Amino acid sequence: MATALERATDRVLAGERLDRDDARALWAEADDALLQRLATHARARFHTPDRATYVVMAILNYTNVCVARCDYCAFYKFPGQEGTYVLSFDDLVQRIDAVAAIGGQLIGFNGGFHPDLGVNEYCTLFGRLHEHYGDKLAFYEMTIAEFMFVSKRSHLSYAESAARFKAVGTRWITGGGAEILDDAFRLRHSPGKYKVEDYYAAQRAVLDAGLGSTATMVIGFDESFEERLNHLDRLRTFQDARIAGGGGRLSSLLCWTYKPWNTELGGQEVPIGEYLRHLALCRVYVDNIVNLRTSVLTRNEGALRGLHFGANDFDLPTEDEVTQKAGATISLEFEAVLDAARHIGFEPTQRQPWPVGGDTSPT
Ligand code: SF4
Repeated sequence: MATALERATDRVLAGERLDRDDARALWAEADDALLQRLATHARARFHTPDRATYVVMAILNYTNVCVARCDYCAFYKFPGQEGTYVLSFDDLVQRIDAVAAIGGQLIGFNGGFHPDLGVNEYCTLFGRLHEHYGDKLAFYEMTIAEFMFVSKRSHLSYAESAARFKAVGTRWITGGGAEILDDAFRLRHSPGKYKVEDYYAAQRAVLDAGLGSTATMVIGFDESFEERLNHLDRLRTFQDARIAGGGGRLSSLLCWTYKPWNTELGGQEVPIGEYLRHLALCRVYVDNIVNLRTSVLTRNEGALRGLHFGANDFDLPTEDEVTQKAGATISLEFEAVLDAARHIGFEPTQRQPWPVGGDTSPT
């Protein structure tokens, strides 16, 4: 009789869906070489082997004021604390122009849960930015976590908020702020943020409104393997429902690792080997999200090895205060990063930001 590991291996090679027992067997028993082989096999369903794509992007943090108090966050300041800020439109234009000047194509906005900022304020800001930049740059306007907060603060349903954002030109509200999508985890570390059900309700409304969204995951807090699996399982089920419903779906899954410096939670950063194994698990288990992104922002050139563990795309980041405050280091020596990708056998190609709703863009 086949062992659990043999069964899981056969399923990946046959293109069959894995169950939770398969995932457990792969995580516990497969060596790195096997995981790499299986993830590469699964990657080839969607992407040309030996090719990878990248996008040059910045994450601009328009405010560090936040009332959520997540214990893993080194970025936020509580209202009234020394050192709080809110960037003005002019500040943002200056920052965006600086990113564009070094080749930035995509600007993601990410800020805290500011108690004085609601949907009206953000729509005014984003509307002005769209008027100013037109199609010269792509914008990830906010994360789902911020979207949930501002919708509630403005007493609007998620559908109403999404329609308001769309009307001012917003195209993307991405899946950031997900960390581990498991309610026990959330209760331990960010009880004021949201419940998992709520996260997906918001994401459903965003996609139903015709906006784009993505999936994210962060590992390396104190989460158990079962909590990680709950995240992946729920995500796969959500994407199944999107595909079955024929509407917009999640364009990509981006995983990165928790940076423990200067946080209340503290801890150790997960070793790169564990991150790579996790990427492989994402690729073989979440079989319905085409694009798997590896995080240069948090793992520098080490992240590129993720291309051998199922990832097909990576970021060339220019800045992100949230992760930099917690220990991330950013290099603007883009050619050196690209050379590192070439050195391990991949031809990196700069891509355009993906079209909204599209998840079928093979490299
Ligand atoms: S992770 Fe985001 S929501 Fe949590 S405290 Fe930091 S800024 Fe606020």
